[in-house]
Amino acid sequence: MIFGIIGHGAAGTFAALRLRETLEEMGRNAQQDRILLFEKASQGLRKVKISGGGRCNVTHHQFDSTLFCKNYPRGNRELRGPFHQFQAQDTVEWFHQRGVKLKVESDGRMFPETNSSQTIIDCFNKELQKNQIEVLHHKNILTCEYNNPSFKVTLGKGETFSLDGLILATGSDRSGYFLAKSLGHSISELAPSLFTFKIGHPLLKDLAGTSFEKVKIEVQTEKRKWQEEGPLLITHWGLSGSAVLKLSAWAARELKTVHYKFPVFVNFLGLPRENIEKLLIDHIKQNPKKLVTTIPLPGLTKNFWQTFIGVLASDYPKLSEKMMNEVSKKEITYITDQLFHFKFTTTGHHRFKEEFVECGGITTKEINFKTMESRVCQGLFFAGEILDIDGITGGFNFQNAWTTGFIAGENMAKLCFNEEES
Ligand SMILES: Cc1cc2nc3c(=O)[nH]c(=O)nc-3n(C[C@H](O)[C@H](O)[C@H](O)COP(=O)(O)OP(=O)(O)OC[C@H]3O[C@@H](n4cnc5c(N)ncnc54)[C@H](O)[C@@H]3O)c2cc1C
Repeated sequence: MIFGIIGHGAAGTFAALRLRETLEEMGRNAQQDRILLFEKASQGLRKVKISGGGRCNVTHHQFDSTLFCKNYPRGNRELRGPFHQFQAQDTVEWFHQRGVKLKVESDGRMFPETNSSQTIIDCFNKELQKNQIEVLHHKNILTCEYNNPSFKVTLGKGETFSLDGLILATGSDRSGYFLAKSLGHSISELAPSLFTFKIGHPLLKDLAGTSFEKVKIEVQTEKRKWQEEGPLLITHWGLSGSAVLKLSAWAARELKTVHYKFPVFVNFLGLPRENIEKLLIDHIKQNPKKLVTTIPLPGLTKNFWQTFIGVLASDYPKLSEKMMNEVSKKEITYITDQLFHFKFTTTGHHRFKEEFVECGGITTKEINFKTMESRVCQGLFFAGEILDIDGITGGFNFQNAWTTGFIAGENMAKLCFNEEES
C-alpha cells in the first residue's frame, strides 16, 4: 500500500512514525508499504526549529488530561478523548525512549535538556530514516481527489501520486484548507491567536523592557469580558507577556470582530483593591518625608513608579512634587484605583515573535476524534494545527500536533489493513 501525509511539520512527522510503527505491530514490514511525507518547502520541521525561542517547548508538565484540556480555547472538549490515547506523559516517554530527555521549567513548560530545538529535529530525522519514511521536499500538493477508495494528489508539472490513505497535516497553510474543502470539508472562521497588544500610551512610552511578575488583566468587548493573570511585559509597541498572550487566545475571534480596538484594564500588582490601598497607606506612613516619586511602592520598579505618578499628574498636577505625608485621601483613592484598574485602549495587534498560531480550521464536528478520520471522506485523516483547535502558550500547541498525529497515523494503518483483509 502507499500512504501519503501532506506536511513535514510536527503533526505530519509524528503521524508518519506512528503509522509505520502500527503497520509493524500488525506484522507488515517496511517493504510492503510505502509512506510518503510530502513537504512543499526545501526542508521540514521549520516551526519546530524556531519554536520556543529556538529551544522548542515540546509539551507541558500536566499529566492530568482533564486539566491539560483546559488550556485550549478551541478544542477543549474534542481533545479529552484523544488525550486518553496519547497525552503529555506519553510525549515525554516517547522522546525519552529515543534518547531525548525533557526538563520542566518552573511554569510547567517542558524543553529538551539541551535547550535546543535541533535535538528534537535530529531525533525525528533519525527516526524517519530508520523507519524508511520517504520524505519528499519541494513537493507542493496542489489538488487532492478522492476516487473511492483511493486518493490522487497532484503536484506542479502534472506529477501525480495515487494513495491508499491520506493525512492532511498542513498546519495553518491556506493550501491545506483549500485541499480539505475540495474533499468536502468546511473551515471555521480563521483569526490570529497568541498576539500582543499595540498600545500608544504615555505610561508605556519609555518603559519598554519593564516586566511584572503577576498582574491581573482584563479585556472587554460589548459582548463580554475576559480576565487572566500572570506575567506582563511592556514592549516598544505596547503590552506583551504570557497574561496578554493567553487573553489573545481566549478572545481571539471576538477581538478580530472589533478590529483589535478594545479597552484593556491592568491591575499592576495583581492584588485586591483593599490590599493595594493598605500597601499604599503603609508605604506613605513609612516614608513620610520622602518625595512621592523617590521610593516605589513595593512590587513596582522605580522607573515605572515615577512614570506612573507622572502620568497621573494630568489629573493631579501637584502629585509628583508632594512629600508622601502631603498626599491627600482623595489622591490615595485615585492612585489606588489607577493601580488596580488602569485603562489602556489598543490600536491593533502584533504577532509575538516567539509563538503564534491560527484560531480556526477544519470544523471539528466533521472529524471522528477517536481515530482522527474525516466523517465526510473515508480514508482521509487530519492532524495538528489544520484543525479548529489551538492552545494557549506553554507547549499545548505541539501536544495537539503529537496527539492528533499519533492517532491519525495509527488509525490510518488500522483502516487500510482491515480493508485489505476484508
Ligand atoms: C515562532 C513560533 C514558535 C512556536 N513555538 C511553540 C512552542 O514552543 N511550543 C508549542 O507548543 N507551539 C509552538 N508554536 C506553535 C507550533 O509551532 C504549531 O502549533 C505546530 O508547529 C503545528 O504543527 P503542524 O504540523 O500542524 O503544522 P506546521 O508545523 O505548520 O507544519 C505544516 C507543514 O506542512 C507544509 N505544507 C503546507 N501545505 C502544504 C502543501 N500543500 N503541500 C506540501 N506541504 C505543505 C508546510 O510547509 C509545513 O512544513 C510556535 C509557532 C510559531 C510560529
